[in-house]
Amino acid sequence: MNVLVINCGSSSLKFQLINSDTEAVLAKGLCERIGIDGRLTYQPAGGEKSVEEKPMPTHTEAIQYVIDALTDAERGVVGSLSEIGAVGHRLVHGGEKFASSAVITEEMIKAVEECNDLAPLHNPANLIGVRACQELMPNVPMVGVFDTAFHQTMPEKAYMYGLPYEYYEKYKVRRYGFHGTSHSFVSKRTAELLDRSYDATKTIVCHLGNGASICAVRNGKSVDTSMGLTPLEGLVMGTRSGDIDPAILEFLAKKEGMDITELMTMLNKKSGVQGVSGISSDFRDLAAGAEAGNKRAQIALDVFCYRVAKYVGSYVAAMNGVDAIAFTAGIGENDGSVREKVCSYLGYLGIEIDKEANKQRGEEIVISTPDSKVKVLVVPTNEELAIARETVALV
Ligand code: AMP
Repeated sequence: MNVLVINCGSSSLKFQLINSDTEAVLAKGLCERIGIDGRLTYQPAGGEKSVEEKPMPTHTEAIQYVIDALTDAERGVVGSLSEIGAVGHRLVHGGEKFASSAVITEEMIKAVEECNDLAPLHNPANLIGVRACQELMPNVPMVGVFDTAFHQTMPEKAYMYGLPYEYYEKYKVRRYGFHGTSHSFVSKRTAELLDRSYDATKTIVCHLGNGASICAVRNGKSVDTSMGLTPLEGLVMGTRSGDIDPAILEFLAKKEGMDITELMTMLNKKSGVQGVSGISSDFRDLAAGAEAGNKRAQIALDVFCYRVAKYVGSYVAAMNGVDAIAFTAGIGENDGSVREKVCSYLGYLGIEIDKEANKQRGEEIVISTPDSKVKVLVVPTNEELAIARETVALV
């Protein structure tokens, strides 16, 4: 079956058409500037990438262009719409209502809408994509795959904040966690690569991209994760602060005269390694800066790696041990010096890194030595493939 995987934001939409039997990507691309002017980037497997300006007043036009490209006589990869068997949608927040992926029905959409308050920027945009696909492909079954669902197995002690309980009761203020599709995919793949039973392995997944989170996976279940009610908590990220003393908000509000919206923009967009370094949120720029003697670039890298190592240590405690640590996403897959630096804090676990293996980028590889007590791996994530698999399983 061919599955169209859609990741829809408020003004952009990423897509991949995946053959679920071979798991090959038939075509992929991106619609940008939806509601502004519109641009379609399209690339069929083995073919030329094209970029076209197209008017996209709404997501419906954007998805129509995607369908047109996929079914085009020359550059298309399927003969007609009937060759698309299902659509898998990435949905950000399923609250406590969704502990797994779900077939999209009117009732299901209503339940997702009830979680909109928890992800006001993402959920409504995701649902616009669902509605547009329903309009253009009314007979194609669709599935929603949630970023939060994998973490619904966390125990109360991991998801409750030390706040008045009434806020949990009234508004469901608690830890949800994100990147669940990635943490699930990578932890499963880690067990496979090590030839271990997923149900009897303790894994810590470090998803280190522009957004970054860590997850403790015990026996196939998420038991703790670093992002919280929102994706702002936890690690120091590209532009997000991660954990800070909450009292800093009042302090800065008074000193700088900032209101809550300005403070939140600062924490989400102007902080993280970008804020510390003042150079960039991209680790390639930071490495080049540090190499050239820029002190703040070096501090940003040090702060990032130290925070990752502290979270790994806390999850070793949470699971009373760890069998494997997996690095994934843009930084985790590509940046050997970040991996080495993080692991340099973990010698007490009996971890030894194979420096040659750690030079590899973007491929599945064990980077610990054969003697290392805990296995350390690079496992490229593939959220689109995970969404396609979930979709096929449900339809
Ligand atoms: P993601 O959000 O998973 O797409 O990751 C994007 C981030 O990965 C970028 O902002 C960079 O910081 C980082 N990244 C990508 N490629 C490399 C590379 N070759 N070396 C170091 N960092 C990289």
